[in-house]
Amino acid sequence: MKKNIAIIGYGGQGGWHAMHALKSDVLTLVGVYDIKPERCELARSRGIKAYGSADEIFADPAVDIVTIATPNDVHKDLVIRALAAGKHVVCEKPVEMSVAALDEMLDAAKAAKGLFTVHQNRRWDVDFLAVKELIASGKIGAPIRIESRIHGSRGIPSDWRCLKQYGGGMILDWGVHLIDQMLQLIPNDTVTGIYCETTAITKSEVDDGFRLSLTFASGKTAFVEVGTYNFIAMPRFYAQFEKGTAMIEDWQKNMQVVKCKYWHENEVLPVQTAAGITKTMAPRDEVTVDTFEWTRPTSDVHDFYRNFTAAIDGKAEMLIKPGEIRRVMQVMEGAFESAEKKQALSVSI
Ligand code: NAD
Repeated sequence: MKKNIAIIGYGGQGGWHAMHALKSDVLTLVGVYDIKPERCELARSRGIKAYGSADEIFADPAVDIVTIATPNDVHKDLVIRALAAGKHVVCEKPVEMSVAALDEMLDAAKAAKGLFTVHQNRRWDVDFLAVKELIASGKIGAPIRIESRIHGSRGIPSDWRCLKQYGGGMILDWGVHLIDQMLQLIPNDTVTGIYCETTAITKSEVDDGFRLSLTFASGKTAFVEVGTYNFIAMPRFYAQFEKGTAMIEDWQKNMQVVKCKYWHENEVLPVQTAAGITKTMAPRDEVTVDTFEWTRPTSDVHDFYRNFTAAIDGKAEMLIKPGEIRRVMQVMEGAFESAEKKQALSVSI
């Protein structure tokens, strides 16, 4: 049976949730609430009920799920109140700005009868899913190092995202997605080291980009970078595996995979460089490597709410779990600390 959803915060992302709820096979949109009257007016003009307050939503017995899509600084209070009212709650990412604040939400969720999750919708990104598939296939062995980057060139948006008090900055905005994906790609492991540099090239009071190095107990390493002043973008994913290398150049492209067939080569043709010849850096030929393309899988963003509603009915395990959300928050907090101290941190996350 479909679940009734109400959305708090009818801005860009609240609008997205509303639009998807209207097309959903598992949700019925019952209404929205936004603190700005003009946003409520806009909802009404689109035939969507606008509630008079968040409390009106919490008190409405018809509402099963409340989705919080407000700026980052007002997630906690709304989530805790919605849970206390007995609702199932979806919070937009980043769920909060500190582990301590998140723990208050998780404590409230433990005490509540409703389920609580975070909209980590980039778990359905097909570039990420392609890397996940390649790892699961074992075709080129296990990953040794994974690099995940998003490069743009337009700075950060000039709304609340560029202001500290609202939880602005790229670690919290995009970092939360890429870190969450990375922890999914390197599962059952422990983050043991964090080093992060932030940038403020476009003169914002928050980070307009960052470079984050992670080391894991297994010896694997990861690199996560977000840049908003990169007029030439580096590949979205670049990963070294035990038996080869994989790369996804950008969102639109399939993954390129090179598998090492034979380690030793009989005849290495040296390559000429300005300073002389080199065999070490000479390119491989098709005798020793297999080169192929990995088609991106398909995905459906509706699966987020399909999973959440199935979990409410006890028919599925909730995909985005409190423990996972907390680890991402711990890594982000470590990234902020490392950047501020300009030091690598030893951690156990
Ligand atoms: P936005 O500024 O477009 O919209 C936020 C809306 O919340 C505004 O209309 C504002 O009036 C309203 N609001 C503020 N305080 C409120 C309150 N106390 N009660 C009710 N309404 C309130 O911002 P956005 O881009 O929609 O971002 C909202 C959230 O969604 C953020 O946490 C953001 O990180 C997240 N987001 C997630 C994704 C994703 O892909 N998962 C994409 C974009 C944004």
